[in-house]
Amino acid sequence: MTVYLVGAGPGDPGLITVRGAEVLRRADVVVHDRLAEPVLLDLAPDGAEVVDVGKSPGAPVHQDDIDALLVERGRAGLCVVRLKGGDPFVFGRGCEEALALREAGVAFEIVPGVTSAVAVPAYAGVPVTHRGISTSFSVVTGHSHNTADTDTNWEALAAAGGTIVVLMGVAHRGEIARRLMAGGLGPETAVLAVHWGSRPEQVSVRTTLAGLGTVALQPPATIVVGPVAAIDAGWYESLPLFGRRVIVTGTRSPRDTTIAAPSLGADLSARLREMGARPVDMPAIRIGLPADGGRGLRAAAEALAEGRYRWVVFTSANAVGPMLAHVPDARAFAGCRIAAVGEGTAAALRAQRLIADLVPQRYVAEGLLDVFPAAPAGGGGPGEGNAGEAGAVLLPRAAVARNVIPDGLAARGWRVDVVEAYRTEAAGPAQHAEAADRDPRTVALASGADAVCFTSSSTVEAFVAMVGADAVPPVVACIGPVTAATARAAGLAVTVVAEQHTVAGLVRALCAVFTTPEGNGEM
Ligand code: SAH
Repeated sequence: MTVYLVGAGPGDPGLITVRGAEVLRRADVVVHDRLAEPVLLDLAPDGAEVVDVGKSPGAPVHQDDIDALLVERGRAGLCVVRLKGGDPFVFGRGCEEALALREAGVAFEIVPGVTSAVAVPAYAGVPVTHRGISTSFSVVTGHSHNTADTDTNWEALAAAGGTIVVLMGVAHRGEIARRLMAGGLGPETAVLAVHWGSRPEQVSVRTTLAGLGTVALQPPATIVVGPVAAIDAGWYESLPLFGRRVIVTGTRSPRDTTIAAPSLGADLSARLREMGARPVDMPAIRIGLPADGGRGLRAAAEALAEGRYRWVVFTSANAVGPMLAHVPDARAFAGCRIAAVGEGTAAALRAQRLIADLVPQRYVAEGLLDVFPAAPAGGGGPGEGNAGEAGAVLLPRAAVARNVIPDGLAARGWRVDVVEAYRTEAAGPAQHAEAADRDPRTVALASGADAVCFTSSSTVEAFVAMVGADAVPPVVACIGPVTAATARAAGLAVTVVAEQHTVAGLVRALCAVFTTPEGNGEM
């Protein structure tokens, strides 16, 4: 087995390399720094050992101990991923680890990363080189400037011209500026300093060499010195949801992929991140097995294989995995048609190579009834051989659900078999929990956020039970009218309802709230 020294990129989880993500997905052990984004750690398989060796102030982990840990886990034959901020060989001590592994005879691979030296300025709209302005860049540490043996010749750097990118330079920025000016750079030379670049917490500060020493700046920051720092091709900080903390109240599915649906929450989080937001994952409900342990599903799958259903109707992505887990041969669906309520449901079916025949325009139960055909009188059409069952519809769904679809289909002459495919359970305290049962950290997380997204009625109820109505963030966005009605019934002021009842529609609605000045009122 191999130890992988992987660059995680500067922060934005999308900036890890394909190779880095690949090895993370099969890691037995992940050893990471302070700079690694937690969502990257989610790529590691369930049950992987995760070791935080972040050199947080006050509790430093010695480099020798890290080297020893990598050697020891590597020797045990485990797949070890050493995740480091940016690129592992740019001030990352990656090569010290590589040499320690080589000495111990442990195989390793180096997976380069996107370095903050280049990517962080890019997220602030500044290039490190620019035609006609700068033909080179130097990357310098600002940390060791006063230790005699590794002193940086700042004066020579200044004389060399080109862009100077300083990492770890916040503490000594005054001294660095002074020496660069002593080397001949003018006090008006443009400077860009970016704190937490490529993250929703990004703050960029534009100043000059003369101002650098006194400008407010927190570490970690990347400092760019030179005329390129006056260029402004900014884009990240102007994304519609930049810096907003948005709660995603998805479902926590069992990781067992045979029953877990592709997570709506994960899709929502990714889209929010693309708009510059910091998604705050707060699963309010858990998808559990049906009360009968799946007996009903098994029987339904057998009946399906016998061709006894004309239609199978899926109203939630959560029902797709459990149903399919009981169908050993995909041809069971050959004789029937499939309806899906909601794009997420259709997508979950597509992931199983089933294309829904009917996806109503309106993603609510009523929308299905608008377009669902009436039962054929006395049978007919495909499946005719089983005349007695010709008008049967299978509806695998949650233990608790509205009866709009079964009642509506029955009114159109269909016989409907409802089978319990899953149960939704509150992930936090139960519905009528006392305030004292609530986890104060969860409550604080909720009340500190800018917005919350609800994708179903059950998540509204479970979320309110979990944090209390008072801790709900100021902006409440709902995927559709049914969810919004539940939210209002729970005492929440609904800010916006998605016009298109999809995850994309929900994100669009939220963007509109934060980009129109008067969009904050109740709808
Ligand atoms: N190997 C890393 C650098 C490690 S040194 C890389 O290639 O990016 C750590 C320094 O990198 C920090 O002190 C800071 O100067 C810079 N840095 C890392 N991540 C950053 C971020 N998201 N925003 C700004 N600076 C960052």
